[in-house]
Formats: sequence, structure tokens, C-alpha cells
Amino acid sequence: MGKKDGEFSEEDKIKCLLWCNRHCCLCGKACGTNIEIAHIIQKGKEGSTSNIDNAIPLCFDCHSEIGKYNAEHPKGNKYRPKELKARREQIYEEYTRHLVPPINYTITQEQFNNPKRTLPNIGFNIHHLGDALPVKALVNIAIFLDGKYIGKPEAGLYAGEHLWNLNPRFAIFGHFYAPKVVVNGTGKLEVKVEITVIDQYEREHRLLPIGYVYIREDNSWYLEPCPP
Ligand SMILES: [Zn+2]
Repeated sequence: MGKKDGEFSEEDKIKCLLWCNRHCCLCGKACGTNIEIAHIIQKGKEGSTSNIDNAIPLCFDCHSEIGKYNAEHPKGNKYRPKELKARREQIYEEYTRHLVPPINYTITQEQFNNPKRTLPNIGFNIHHLGDALPVKALVNIAIFLDGKYIGKPEAGLYAGEHLWNLNPRFAIFGHFYAPKVVVNGTGKLEVKVEITVIDQYEREHRLLPIGYVYIREDNSWYLEPCPP
């Protein structure tokens, strides 16, 4: 976080350089020390901030290229902020994806060597399937009854408020409580799970949300790939 319309913080600049491995986020070339952290929306323009989301590492050539555009005499196609951000994300992804292990997670009533959980108690298992590099994760769960959002689990751990430590080959078998209204209800109970993995360079990798639908007669869940 930085102050509005100012310079990026040293900490954010370092993150940007790590995330792109000192490659230009427009032309993709390796820059070494010939790299600058530019503003996507120029300082002084509406919408400009010193937040990391407005930062893009560029080689000197590309930096002068994006600044040169003159709205009075448009020539070629100007780089729009949305395009610059998308290209930057591609480069960041290329140089950080090796830091993200395969992760498996599921909503389940099953418990190892124990009877199944019963509502409003819902189980959540998450497993780091890789061999190297620990990561952190945010687990964000939302509960729906008949398509209507009814709340988050009581435990903040499942409301995206705390970072989970995931070590290699490590599994966590957790659980949370849904609002009590789900116990006697007859409507369709659905749980939406959103996971954000945070790598060793503190970059966030958001996985696509998935849903689980409760089968009341069986006290189990099936996977719903397009949740509410
Ligand atoms: Zn470049």
C-alpha cells in the first residue's frame, strides 16, 4: 500500500522485481538492472495510485514507448491500462508459477476413523500435493440456501481472514459450522469455496471458485463446478 498518486514503496518495488524475475512486462526481455517500475496510469492522471496494482516493471525502451502516446495525434494503438495489466500478469505468472504446488481440497462429512459429521458441522480438507516449497493459503467459504447467500462460517479461518500455512505433502483436516438454519431446512444447501494461494514471493494466485451441494438423504456432498 502506498499513498495516493505518489511513488511505490520499496517493499512493493522489490515484490514486482521478484515476480517478473527482472523481465520487462511488455516486451518480455531480461533486463538485469536496466528496469524501472512504471505507473500504468500515469502520475497526476485520474485513477493513478501508488498501489502495487498500478505498477509495471518495464525496460527503458518500453517505458518511453508507453509514455509517448499523444491523444491529439494517435498513431498505432495505444496501450490501455487493462492490456498492460493483463500482459504484466502473464509475465508474473510465467516467473512465479513454479512456486505454486498442486493443491487438493474438498468439502466432506467423512472423518477418518470417526462417524460422519452432521450439520451444521461441515468438514473441509486441504492437501499440499507438492514436494517442495511451503505456501500460504486463504480459504474463503460462503454458504447458500436455495441460491440465497446466508453467511460465512463462524470461524474466521474459513472467512478469508487468516493465512493457512501449507507445508509440502501436508494435509489439514478441518471443519467449520454453518449458520444453524441449515440444519432443519429442506432447501438446496450449497457451499462455495474460494482458495487463494500465496507463494514465497507473496504473490497471490486465485483459484477459480467451486461449489459443493449437500445431499440431505445421504449426508454427503457433490461437486458443482459453477457455484452461485
Ligand atoms: Zn521492454
